[in-house]
Amino acid sequence: TEGCLSEIDSAGALNAFVHNTPDVAREQANAADERIKGGDAPAMCGIPLGIKDLFCTKGVASQAASGVLDGFKPEYESTVTQNLFDAGAVMLGKLNMDEFAMGSSNETSVYGNAVNPWKVDDRHLTPGGSSGGSASAVAADLCLAATGTDTGGSIRQPAAFTGITGIKPTYGRCSRWGIVAFASSLDQAGPMTKDVRDAAIMLEAMCGHDPKDSTSADIPVPDFEAMLTGDIKGKVIGIPREYRMDGTPDEIEKLWADGTAMLKDAGAEIRDISLPHTKYALPAYYVIAPAEASSNLARYDGVRYGHRAKLEQGDGITEMYEKTRAEGFGDEVKRRVMVGTYVLSAGFYDAYYNRARKVRTLIKRDFEQVFADGVDAILTPATPSAAFGLGEMTDADPVQMYLNDVFTVTVNLAGLPGISVPAGVDKQGLPLGLQLIGRPWEEGDLLNTAYALE
Ligand code: GLN
Repeated sequence: TEGCLSEIDSAGALNAFVHNTPDVAREQANAADERIKGGDAPAMCGIPLGIKDLFCTKGVASQAASGVLDGFKPEYESTVTQNLFDAGAVMLGKLNMDEFAMGSSNETSVYGNAVNPWKVDDRHLTPGGSSGGSASAVAADLCLAATGTDTGGSIRQPAAFTGITGIKPTYGRCSRWGIVAFASSLDQAGPMTKDVRDAAIMLEAMCGHDPKDSTSADIPVPDFEAMLTGDIKGKVIGIPREYRMDGTPDEIEKLWADGTAMLKDAGAEIRDISLPHTKYALPAYYVIAPAEASSNLARYDGVRYGHRAKLEQGDGITEMYEKTRAEGFGDEVKRRVMVGTYVLSAGFYDAYYNRARKVRTLIKRDFEQVFADGVDAILTPATPSAAFGLGEMTDADPVQMYLNDVFTVTVNLAGLPGISVPAGVDKQGLPLGLQLIGRPWEEGDLLNTAYALE
């Protein structure tokens, strides 16, 4: 813990940690010491972690990287962080992210962008998003692991951009209670770690049934670490032809081919599969996620949380809402609220929102079909490229940024577990990740397949 605290102090330029909590860390580390001396030491005992700013941590600033939550210190602890603390983990501080987890580059944060510890010459790169601070902190050894959340790729894409491992579990595996909501039917928490074994250990500590979240599943949590045998003989790995997209760089094609060969050498059977509705995933996601976000973000009204605009004589409640929200939200969040409100409005609900929901069902069925046909896991690239430069995509049309999520959003729409593991480098030596998608509730198997890729 002391080692990490001093690394954090000297790594300010990465802008990964945005609220440091050294007092909390030392207190928790001392308590962990006592537990270890007493012979009661779970695997996470004394492990120093970074916590994404989206998690409510009791008495500690939790702002979702938004100006609208300025000064907000929750009265309660999220279930995931509470589970980790109960297992003896230590919180070093809160980590940078895109505002309300909307983004793929950590550039929508009120704290300014986080920086990727990997760089090419003097070109500074994004660590990805929205869990950019988490990825940067783990990759730069500022903490041993971090929490992330993933609504459309926010654990897997930053993991790929920084050369670390990140798993988004099955929807319902981790409680969402106390995690600031973005798109409730898609959001899931998960670990961001240095390797697959750490991911298995940390996931087990984070997840489990929680009566405070009605979508949390009441099913047993296996010992994920014990399932890491590296034996994948006879497993069927699907290679979805629709993920072979025009314009995919050669190095991504090669990464994918190399990963396929590695799994084959380890005894897996490789099968070409089809997920025919893949091309509709991105448009469906960018209707459903903003729709849910516009509803979830209605609560930031200047009364209940954080920021309230200064009002003038004669201003009423409407002016308070308008000014608070105009000042508190950044541009990307406003864009999503407007898109979401539009697709939910009476005249357009059927044309956009309902249609997107139907598409979502078809995407889910595509996966159900291939799993029913005996496929155990699906291998794809995690991202269409390596990390891009800071500022490079923000000036472009927002759709360019959204295209980053092309390989990851299907997994959230279908509620499946997905993991990104570092699997190679591009021409410039930057890390690239491969994604494995598994059957629902079979994270143990998925982690084991990822372990064989490591
Ligand atoms: N990049 C996606 C978005 O902007 C996904 C974000 C996430 O998973 N939280 O919505």
